[in-house]
Amino acid sequence: MASIYFTPGPAQLYPTVEKHLQKALDSQALSQSHRSQGFKDLYKRADAALKELFNLPASYAIYFTGSATEIWERSLQSLTANSSFHLVNGSFSGKYLEHAQWLGRKADAHQVPFGQGFDIAQVHIPGQAELIGIAQNETSSGVSTPVSDIHALKARYPEPLLSVDMVSGAPYAQLDFNLVDMAFFSVQKGFGLPAGLGVWLVNEKCLAKATSLQGQQYTGGHYSIASLHEFYQQFQTPCTPNVLAIYLLTHVVEDMLAKGIDVIRKETDAKADMVYSFLEESELFQPFVQEPAHRSPTVLVAEVKSRPASEVISKLKEQGLVLGSGYGKFKDQHVRIANFPAVSETDMDRLVKAMRLL
Ligand SMILES: *Cc1c(COP(=O)(O)O)cnc(C)c1O
Repeated sequence: MASIYFTPGPAQLYPTVEKHLQKALDSQALSQSHRSQGFKDLYKRADAALKELFNLPASYAIYFTGSATEIWERSLQSLTANSSFHLVNGSFSGKYLEHAQWLGRKADAHQVPFGQGFDIAQVHIPGQAELIGIAQNETSSGVSTPVSDIHALKARYPEPLLSVDMVSGAPYAQLDFNLVDMAFFSVQKGFGLPAGLGVWLVNEKCLAKATSLQGQQYTGGHYSIASLHEFYQQFQTPCTPNVLAIYLLTHVVEDMLAKGIDVIRKETDAKADMVYSFLEESELFQPFVQEPAHRSPTVLVAEVKSRPASEVISKLKEQGLVLGSGYGKFKDQHVRIANFPAVSETDMDRLVKAMRLL
């Protein structure tokens, strides 16, 4: 019997991927030119489906890149001349900051210890910051920032562009896209697709800022906002994109729409509650994140109390239940459980029962 992957990316594939993959091959869509009408129609369909899924204002643009990591770099190149500000509570939010430093930006940060979330009232952002970077879901620690806090940050600091890394929170996280300026994800997490595609959601304020910086400095070349947008207007991309990934994403998003994003959110909450209630009462495990409001519904991190985490991981693996290991120096103490839409309630129930018997 096939294993179930509870790993936070690459992750369990969405159940319809196999069918769509076969259809992509049968239709020969992968051989047709990326300058063809067929590709433009696919991009247009992806654009419409993603706009509906995220409830995006019509003025948003959607670009494709190679990864989310690339969007950290491209967003800073296209949208900042001098300075950015980062809310850092783990490895992924820290990497966005690191990219700003690599690019020579004056990068300031509000940092809290690993495993903690933010008290937005305590965040003070200097006036010169052009972009604020925040991870809606910090995959390394299992801390998520409630979307209401992200919206509150915008209310306090309306001027800088607000950039939200929602890689391991999408499509669950219900951001109000009138209150953020850009967001991004890659497809191998919550969408349950093979890795190799970044998706960048960008509003008009970003486009205006990118246009104002154009020509002033190096702004990111072929994957700059200026270049991506020029091509986007014809549903094209600056270079040959990952057509297979765009094809699969389009079809999986349409499947998610058919199921209903509200249903997916409810199921996610129910599965998360099931796991957290178990962790709370378990002798062997406990939730790593102390503050319940900051516990991620999509990537759940458990501390293993009296055994090496690797032992737990290999025991479950023998039963076909593949967990993620702890991040970085927490490898021996933590397990990470992805609660993405591809994992069913039955799968999660099986996992909890197996963890109970350890
Ligand atoms: C996985 C992850 C990334 C990086 O995604 P890539 O597709 O590997 O570039 C960025 N941010 C968060 C929060 C992630 O979980």
